[in-house]
Amino acid sequence: MPYNFYAGPCKLPESVIERIRNEFTDYRGSGMSVMEISHRAQPVLDLLERTQEKIRRLMGLAVDDDVLLLQGGGTLQFSMIPMNLSAAGDPVDYIDSGYWAAKAIEAARQLERDVHVAGKAHDTIPTALDIRADARYLHVCTNNTVMGTQWQGIPESRVPLVADMSSDILSRNIDTGRFALIYAHAQKTIGAAGVTVVIVPRKTQEMIQPGLPSFFDYRTHADAGSNHHTPPVFAIYVVECMLDWLEKEVGGLDTMETLNRDKAALLYETLDASTLFRCPVPSESRSMMNVVFDAVNPEIVSIFSQKAEEAGLLGLQGHRSRGGFRASLYNAVTLEEVETLAGFITDFEHCYG
Ligand code: PMP
Repeated sequence: MPYNFYAGPCKLPESVIERIRNEFTDYRGSGMSVMEISHRAQPVLDLLERTQEKIRRLMGLAVDDDVLLLQGGGTLQFSMIPMNLSAAGDPVDYIDSGYWAAKAIEAARQLERDVHVAGKAHDTIPTALDIRADARYLHVCTNNTVMGTQWQGIPESRVPLVADMSSDILSRNIDTGRFALIYAHAQKTIGAAGVTVVIVPRKTQEMIQPGLPSFFDYRTHADAGSNHHTPPVFAIYVVECMLDWLEKEVGGLDTMETLNRDKAALLYETLDASTLFRCPVPSESRSMMNVVFDAVNPEIVSIFSQKAEEAGLLGLQGHRSRGGFRASLYNAVTLEEVETLAGFITDFEHCYG
């Protein structure tokens, strides 16, 4: 069995894969695969409703927060957010905390919003923020998948807060009531690629601009219960399986967070004790999800990569924009798997250090 440290898509829990296999040809006694059932038929309508409800429950959302299950990935949200929450020329503030936050900024600029960068740092979480009082919203990326940094708290903001939680949704407890909008693709912590969760409270829907093409208007999807057009039924089914796993097998979000903290702590401790590798991220900004590290001596990069692959440790290369190494420890990665990686790094140190 490989040890899967891919940054996303990435590992799913073995029991979830097994459940999917067991239910594959007969979804809830229908005699059909979930892939074969019309999105207008009751089993899929029920699936949509249950999945939205489970997200609402696990995230502690308000009853009138709409949970949308959309396509287009995190990337489509980079454009849908400025389109819905502002008009051309409107002030919108962004925190530039890394590769994906920068993509969100670029999309808002393309739509001719008056973009202001309220804080910028890529190797650590930005601290001094300069948020305009008249900004329509402040956009923050809670976990920076590429740089390996993560907000430990939520930035103080008097303007509506919009968060990209693509790489840490449901990996820890967070006060969701503080956000005007939350979005996250599923393929890292809560499922497979193909569906993106967008949480749009009622109050935020009052900000929506008139005249949008209906497909791009969040209310179209809210009013249709995420069934305005054919939803990605299979991907949503995988999300429901993940939510059940999180709730029933892991024991809820608090336990998930403790486990994620323990996993990350172990790997950071190993790296901090290493003479061959170093983690460039200061401890107060370190991500629990993506542990980024570099070789002190570039000469060991290829031998480490080769030996790791031979040992079945997959997905350790850093993002193409940054290089180095990255181990992604999303929800499904077990403590034992992280222990294996930490042990491998320690053994490597004994051989090559
Ligand atoms: N936001 C974050 C934080 C990401 O990590 C990614 C991709 N890894 C994206 C957005 C883009 O998402 P997608 O590929 O689903 O468009």
